[in-house]
Amino acid sequence: MQHVPDIAAPALDIDKIRKDFPLLQEKVYGKPLVYLDNSATTQKPQVVLDTLERYYKHYNSNVHRGVHHLSQVASEEYEAARHIIAGFINAAHSEEVIFTKGTTDSINLIANVFGRGVIKPGDEVIVSAMEHHSNIVPWQIMCEDRGAVLKVIPMDENGELMMSEYTKLLSDKTRIVSVAYVSNSLGTVNPVREIIAQAHARNIPVMLDAAQAVQHMPLDVQELDVDFIAFSGHKLYGPTGIGILYGKREWLDKLPPYQGGGDMIKTVTFAKTTYNVLPFKYEAGTPDISGAIGLGAAVKYVQEIGIEHIHAYEEQLVQYAVEQLSTVEGLRFIGNPKHRSGAISFLVDTIHPYDLGELLDKQGVAIRTGHHCAEPVMDFFCIPGTVRASFGMYTNKEDIDRLVVAVNRAAGMLR
Ligand code: PLP
Repeated sequence: MQHVPDIAAPALDIDKIRKDFPLLQEKVYGKPLVYLDNSATTQKPQVVLDTLERYYKHYNSNVHRGVHHLSQVASEEYEAARHIIAGFINAAHSEEVIFTKGTTDSINLIANVFGRGVIKPGDEVIVSAMEHHSNIVPWQIMCEDRGAVLKVIPMDENGELMMSEYTKLLSDKTRIVSVAYVSNSLGTVNPVREIIAQAHARNIPVMLDAAQAVQHMPLDVQELDVDFIAFSGHKLYGPTGIGILYGKREWLDKLPPYQGGGDMIKTVTFAKTTYNVLPFKYEAGTPDISGAIGLGAAVKYVQEIGIEHIHAYEEQLVQYAVEQLSTVEGLRFIGNPKHRSGAISFLVDTIHPYDLGELLDKQGVAIRTGHHCAEPVMDFFCIPGTVRASFGMYTNKEDIDRLVVAVNRAAGMLR
């Protein structure tokens, strides 16, 4: 008999949580939706939808500019959201929290300002073999511009980073290390504390792509002593088009500005412009005001449930999913890390992942197929892509059971 762990952590009432997410009540092809594409984006709780509506209905106005009432309310709510997010990641100062468009935008920002402010020809930047394209390409562009060199921490067959190789890559030429906290394609949780400790021993700053971490586990930037992190609101039960760059104040103060425009300046003349203080220095132009306020509401919702409770529940859920998927004939996991979070990638026999994905969809099961914006990972395993099931706080045992039934049925038809 398969060991079935008790996944109902007492602190989480999953049935109640599910009722907070209107989209989970939708049907697909007349079947109840099984939404297992949470690494791509999460669904939004009613409180976030209400917050967005309230903003547009009652105080839509530009921030930081008007003396009138609406603008003051919008500015207060926007800054309140920043405070909530700073508290959530335990930033020492709320001005270390910059609103961006998302993870991609945050990484591009740091790659750009590092390129202009720090990097010299021959310098090196370290990423890892399991990065999302958005933690590869911005660094490649910058390295090409500056004549710098991109170095890659290799991984093994389990989808785990080869830490002894990382140690060897660190050198006097390394200017920054930028790695995923959790891999979006494999679910691997990387040993970020060790990565940071080794880099800091050489005074090298570290950026974490936390796009797949911040919704699954407590993340304390001071405890990690990380220099920069990036994440997206839409993967954290918030709106699309908004995200966060966290950066230590001493770094953000000394790095050059990114985009120029309104709000990021103190004074402008044709001879010289002086720049605003943090966080405004990195928030040129009208920001995504409703998105920021909506993300604040999402983070508050997560805090009320408790990220540590979500973490404990999801750890058991992932274990349950691995156990249940192991019963499928011909299924092999792509990546078998000791510590996995949020996502499981697999293939069945020689069935193409797209074919499997289509037949799962017809059964109301939404998973993702393809390279998951991590082509080097697919090249490493010599596969065209994977089927990826990814989880959120509202995923329950029934979702996993229906996934397994659907995979068995689809594989039976395709064999
Ligand atoms: N990094 C990782 C690890 C991701 O999983 C993703 C999105 O899937 C991104 C970066 C890019 O996020 P966004 O498209 O929200 O900017």
